[in-house]
Amino acid sequence: MNKYDSDSISQVLINRGYEQTQSMQDANVIMVNTCAVREKAEAKALSLIGRLSNLKRRNSDCIIAVVGCVAQEKGMELFQRFPYLDLVVGPRNIHHIEEYLSQIKAGGERICAADMTADPSLSVRCNGFVQDKATSFLKIMEGCDNFCTYCIVPYVRGRERSIPEKQVIDEATYLVSRGIKEITLIGQNVNSYNANGTNGLRFPDLMRELDRIPGLKRLRFTTSHPKDLSDELIRCFADLHSLCSHIHLPVQSGSDKILRLMHRGYTRDTYTRLIKLLRNTRPDIAITSDMIVGFPGETESDFKESLRLIDEIKFDNIFSFKYSERVGTTASRLPDKIDEYEKYRRLYVLQEKQRQITLSKNLLLTGTTQEVLVEGPGKRGEAQLTGRTTGNKVVNFHAKDDLKGQLVTVRIVEAFQNSLFGEMVESP
Ligand code: SAH
Ligand code: SF4
Repeated sequence: MNKYDSDSISQVLINRGYEQTQSMQDANVIMVNTCAVREKAEAKALSLIGRLSNLKRRNSDCIIAVVGCVAQEKGMELFQRFPYLDLVVGPRNIHHIEEYLSQIKAGGERICAADMTADPSLSVRCNGFVQDKATSFLKIMEGCDNFCTYCIVPYVRGRERSIPEKQVIDEATYLVSRGIKEITLIGQNVNSYNANGTNGLRFPDLMRELDRIPGLKRLRFTTSHPKDLSDELIRCFADLHSLCSHIHLPVQSGSDKILRLMHRGYTRDTYTRLIKLLRNTRPDIAITSDMIVGFPGETESDFKESLRLIDEIKFDNIFSFKYSERVGTTASRLPDKIDEYEKYRRLYVLQEKQRQITLSKNLLLTGTTQEVLVEGPGKRGEAQLTGRTTGNKVVNFHAKDDLKGQLVTVRIVEAFQNSLFGEMVESP
């Protein structure tokens, strides 16, 4: 989401005549887009902002802005801590950034824009970083009403708001007309999409509409919440040709006690049933997830439940995190906090287990042929191209031609931890 927002801001400014610089030293405007979901991300952002004071000393005309979730969370406090800041903009106000910049350039006061009730912006015709790309994100909703007890997102991205269906379809059509072949619909919780003013159109209906766009080869979405994974959405995996065989379905914990304390709204059993349904509907579906270790009150036996779930489900991959306390959340007030070292140990054990599962899943793909959407040259050069399978696995292979944006068939010959290597067997 932050990547999408950064691209949108850049594009809005480029449309108004700004140019992108290669180094911060050359810039007249510097914007730091921030994430507040875990303490580490926030600390990194604050440290970068601190380092910008030198630049401001050398070039006092340079406008320095903090945008995104840390801007929303801290607001005016950022001006006290970093007196050289000119602009603080929360996620819901980024579409006004150009106006704020003009006011400041015209000699106006510094601005703090942190109104969380504003509708989210769909940067229609703004996601111009699509040039020469095969894939693009597309924001369909913003905010979250779930209030999982550990999470700061509802406090910094505000209440759920969906982008009207027509805007989403127009933007998707535009992206396809610019050469995009794969669109990933993004939002904090895409499957509770319910567009205002669209007669209650839901997420599965929206996907059915998008599936009809000629030239759109692949559709993905992220992130979806298990409690809102409806039968209609699962049916989309049976019916929609463009919908890729991958779902990111964050489970967070394998222990019912911890899931309850997290306020997730499902049990371990409900979650495993959903996975069975998904696999019955799309046998080749790749499943990835998020997990948190060391949530307050997580005993060794709760942690083992998470490990057991990983063994049982065999996710294709997991993003795993140590619980990070966020000010103002319900979990920050819970007793039985887990010691930092113990959280680290649990994270290490969990990641080692998943590493082996990920590798063995990748190894299972050797010898198979996969359809790969070519995204561009591989990192190694040497006439190597890179793309992804429908299951979202990265595949590198040799090819002489520039096949960007094309679907090619590749036989997988080697599997690694984070990618596959193959030989192209057919070009379109
Ligand atoms: N809306 C998505 C998740 C968005 S945040 C969902 O509910 O699935 C992305 C991930 O960050 C979460 O899935 C969670 O695993 C992690 N996360 C969020 N808050 C966290 C915290 N306080 N400490 C550690 N991890 C956290
Ligand atoms: Fe955070 Fe939960 Fe909302 Fe995801 S669903 S953004 S974890 S509150």
